[in-house]
Amino acid sequence: AKSSGRSTYAFYSQELTSQARQRVELVTALRQALEQGQLRLHFQPIYDLQTGTISGFEALVRWQHPEKGLIAPGIFIPIAEETGLISAIDHWVLEQACNQAREWLGQGHPLGFIAVNISSRLFGNGELDLQVATILARSGLEARHLELEITESAVMQDPDAALELLQRLRALGVQLAIDDFGTGYSSLQRLKRMNVHKLKIDQGFVRGLPEDRDDAAITRSVIGLAHNLGLKVVAEGIETADQAAFLLAQDCDYGQGYGFARPLPADEIDWRPSELCYG
Ligand code: C2E
Ligand code: CA
Ligand code: CA
Ligand code: CA
Repeated sequence: AKSSGRSTYAFYSQELTSQARQRVELVTALRQALEQGQLRLHFQPIYDLQTGTISGFEALVRWQHPEKGLIAPGIFIPIAEETGLISAIDHWVLEQACNQAREWLGQGHPLGFIAVNISSRLFGNGELDLQVATILARSGLEARHLELEITESAVMQDPDAALELLQRLRALGVQLAIDDFGTGYSSLQRLKRMNVHKLKIDQGFVRGLPEDRDDAAITRSVIGLAHNLGLKVVAEGIETADQAAFLLAQDCDYGQGYGFARPLPADEIDWRPSELCYG
């Protein structure tokens, strides 16, 4: 029994070691990916629901791995967050997104905003406003065209510091959005004090629309709450015309989702108005 126990233990620890090794390899490869230009940005259009035209885009990072192909952020963002590599990635994304937006505007596209996801790490380092100001100056993009998507959990880590940082970012002139709204625990009081411009309703609430009564009630009240506070609302994860029609009927301002368009490389974007709920 003793020897079998030992061999089980040996097997188990070997497993752990190989898992740990895989992780270290992934982190090393990711650091290289950043240095060797293997990261890519895809852009998902965000539509004005009233007109069906594109208002802006959300920039979403992908990893073009030389052997494994295109890797989704769900695989490497969590590891990048744990190791701190995320700040360098976010910085790269910010810069690329601002440059792309500047290029589109230069080509005469009526772009309202480019939205960039900000990790809690970058949000928490206290210097985000300086970094954003530098990148804006370098790219020549006007601040009003840049939107930062911040999660409730990033704000909750240090609410007082977060409120001050949000204030400084607002003063720069960038737009602020709370991402995945409804999945965190921010109080209405705090929401009011955060003084952001937009709420993004999490796709978990959009999925059940229009049939699910709870999801319908939640989206309706989030839209009402946001509008009463003077905020715009984006619904994400819209996949069907019924969902889009329901949200339009509830006066939701913007929509994003596979039903409109998937995230795409910049040169594959179709700028024509969507026919999802207007056809
Ligand atoms: P998120 O910020 O909530 O982004 C929305 C995600 O939903 C994206 O997944 C998008 O492709 C996906 N999506 C859009 N429409 C639909 C739809 O109709 N149905 C479904 N099922 N999904 C839809 P993606 O690109 O895989 O990104 C996943 C998450 O990774 C993002 O969630 C965000 O938290 C993170 N992420 C992506 N890019 C960045 C980045 O540049 N920086 C940071 N810090 N995080 C990023
Ligand atoms: Ca987002
Ligand atoms: Ca989101
Ligand atoms: Ca999400």
